[in-house]
Amino acid sequence: MRRMELLAPAGGMRELKAAVQSGADAVYLGASEFSARAGAGNFDYEELAEAVRYCHVYGVKVHCALNTLIKETELEAAIAAARRVYECGVDAIIIQDIGLAAHLRRMLSDIELHASTQMTVTSLEGARYLKEHGFSRVVLARELSLSEIEEIAKGIDIELEVFIHGAICMCYSGQCLMSSVLGGRSGNRGRCAQPCRLSYELIRNGNREVSAYALSPKDMALIDHLKELRRIGVASLKIEGRLKSAEYVSAVTGIYRKYLDKPDKVSVGDRRELAAAFSRSGFTDGYLTGRLGRAMMAHDNPANNSGSDFTEEAKKRACGGFTRRIPINIFASLAAEDILRVTAYDNDGSCVSVLGDIKAEAAKNKPLTGERLREQLSKLGATPFYAADINTETEDGITVPVKEINAVRRRMCRVLEDTLAKRDRKAATDIPIPREKRTDISEMYLTAEAETADQARAILSAGNIRRLYVSAPVAAELYGVPEGIELVTKTSDIFMPESITTKSVSVSSTAAVRFYGKMARYGDFRLNVYNSLTLRALSELKCITLSPELNISEIAAVIRNATTETEIIGYGRLPLMLMRNCPIKALGGCQNGRREYSLRDRKGIEFPLICSMYRDGTCRSLLLNSKPIYTADIMDVIRQTGVNGIRLVFTDETPDRCGRIIKEYKDALLGKKINAPEVNTFTRGHLKRGVI
Ligand SMILES: [Zn+2]
Repeated sequence: MRRMELLAPAGGMRELKAAVQSGADAVYLGASEFSARAGAGNFDYEELAEAVRYCHVYGVKVHCALNTLIKETELEAAIAAARRVYECGVDAIIIQDIGLAAHLRRMLSDIELHASTQMTVTSLEGARYLKEHGFSRVVLARELSLSEIEEIAKGIDIELEVFIHGAICMCYSGQCLMSSVLGGRSGNRGRCAQPCRLSYELIRNGNREVSAYALSPKDMALIDHLKELRRIGVASLKIEGRLKSAEYVSAVTGIYRKYLDKPDKVSVGDRRELAAAFSRSGFTDGYLTGRLGRAMMAHDNPANNSGSDFTEEAKKRACGGFTRRIPINIFASLAAEDILRVTAYDNDGSCVSVLGDIKAEAAKNKPLTGERLREQLSKLGATPFYAADINTETEDGITVPVKEINAVRRRMCRVLEDTLAKRDRKAATDIPIPREKRTDISEMYLTAEAETADQARAILSAGNIRRLYVSAPVAAELYGVPEGIELVTKTSDIFMPESITTKSVSVSSTAAVRFYGKMARYGDFRLNVYNSLTLRALSELKCITLSPELNISEIAAVIRNATTETEIIGYGRLPLMLMRNCPIKALGGCQNGRREYSLRDRKGIEFPLICSMYRDGTCRSLLLNSKPIYTADIMDVIRQTGVNGIRLVFTDETPDRCGRIIKEYKDALLGKKINAPEVNTFTRGHLKRGVI
C-alpha cells in the first residue's frame, strides 16, 4: 500500500519549518501573488527558493498554490509567477483557473499540476476530466462522504488529496459568491471576508424563527478515520490553515504524524491538544460520515473557543530548531602526510565525499585518536542530520587541528544538503498567450433560465429569447416549445448523471462538460470563466457564461480574445452559496421544495434560501442574493463589451413578472430607452466595480 502523504500548511517560513520539524511529508504555501490566501504572509521568490531547499533536504515536497481565478489583464503576470515558482524548484503547482492550467501544462513540462479544491471536484467524472487535461492530483471537494471518495479512488488512477483537519466552509469551495457580492472581496481570489461567520436570523414566511450563526460550521477533524482513508487509497491528507500560527501547524501536524506512523486509538490527551490548538465548539467529521445537519454547525459561537493552548513539545517544534533529523553514516580517514577525508551517506543512497585543506602532521604531544575524531564529527546539533554511525581510520602518532575537523564537518553538511536539495529541471518553454481578434460579432440575444414549469411556460409564451434553460424535471413537463427557442436542460449545479430529454444541456462543472460530451453544451457561470485562456480551454462548448465577478471592462477584455460565444447574467438573483449541509434542515426542518425560508442579516437584508432534491436523495441548498441584477437600462454599455447572450435568471419571480422582464430586455435590445427600476430594488452585481 502506498504511503499516505501528510500535507501541512505554511503561511510563512516559520510555519514551514514548524511543519517540517513536526513530520510533514509535504507542505503547501503561496507565492506572493495569485495565492488563495491573500492574507497569509506568503513567500517572495527568494524565500521560496530557500523554503524549497529547506524542505528538499528532508525529502519534503513543496506544493505552491497559484489558485486564484485570473483576470485577462493579469494573465501575463500569473504566467510569469508560475515560471518563477517553477524555477524555484517546487514540486507541484496548485491551480484553480482552467485556462491558466492549460497554458502551464504546455509551458512547464516538468512539474505536477494539482487541481485546487476551488475546482469543486465531487465526482469520478470530474477527476477524469482533470486527468485528461494534465493534472496528476485532485484536491477533492470537502463535502464528499467516504463512499463517494472511494468511488472516485476505485475508478481512476490519479492522486487524490483530501482535507483532514481545519476550517470548512458552508459553501462548496469555488462556488461561493457571498463575500464577493456583499463586499467586493472575492473568495475565488483569496480575499473572503467571511460574512458567513456572522449571525443570521432564519425567517419563515416573513416571521423570525431563530437567530444563529446559521452558516458557520465547526472545524473538521478526521483523526479517527485515517485507517479508512488509507484503505480506500487516498494519496494525501491535507491540513487546512495557511493563516494559522507555527504553533498550530506544529501541534496538528505532530498529532497526525503520530497516528499515521502508529495507527492506534486516539488518546484523550491528543484529542485535547487538537481541540486546544483551535476549535469552534468542537469538531465535525460530518461530510465524511454523512452525518450532516446541526451536529456539524457552530450555531452558537463561530469563534475559536479553544484558548490556543499548545504543549511544550509543539512550541519547541515551532521554534525552528532541528527536532527532526536525518540519520547519516560517516566514514573518515586520516593518513600521514595526507588531508582529512570524510564520506557521508544517508539511507536513501545519497553520498558525498569532502576533503580537508591541511595535511596531517606528527603529533607533538596528543595524537588524534579515532574516538576523538568521531566525537568531533558527531557534533551535528545545528544541522538537520545526526550521525547514526561513524567509522574512522587514523594512523598512529599524527594529528590535524580541531578547527580543521570542524571545518570539514561543516563542509560535509553543506555539500550533503546541496546534494539532497538538488533538483534538475527542464527549462520552461516560452508560449505566447494566444491573442486572436474576433470577427464573428453576432447580434446580441436573450436567453432565460427558469426554476419552475410555470415560469418556463410564461417565458415561452413571451418569446423573444433564443434559449430557455430549465432543470431536467421541468424540461420533461414542457410541451410545444415554439420554433426559434432552444430548450436546454440545465444540469445539476453539483454534478450527478441525469437523464436528459433535450438535445442540449447547460453544464456547471468540468465533470458535466465531459459526461455530456456527445451533446451540444452551454457553459454555466459556475465554470468560473475569468479569461480568454479558459474560454479556449473550454472551446468544445457552444457558448459560455462568464463569471459574474467580472466588471464591464474585464468582460470586454475577455471577449476581445474570445473564440467562443459568450453570455453574461444580465438579470436575476445571483446564488451566493451552494451548500451540501442544508442550513434550514440544520436549524429545524427542510422545506421539501416549498419556498418559505430566508436568512436575514444584521442590517435587515433578506436572502432567500431554496433547496433542490438531488438524485442521491439529499438536498443542495442555494442562498440567493437579496436583490436581482438589473441591466436593461444600461444595455448600450453592455453591448459595447461584444457579449453575445444576455441571460435572464428567474428564481422566485412570478410567471407574470418573468414575462414583463423579458419584454423590458427585448425593448432594450431594440434600442428603446428603459428606465431604471426603483432604487434599492436591484443591483448591478459586479458590472460596475468588479472584485478584488
Ligand atoms: Zn434543504
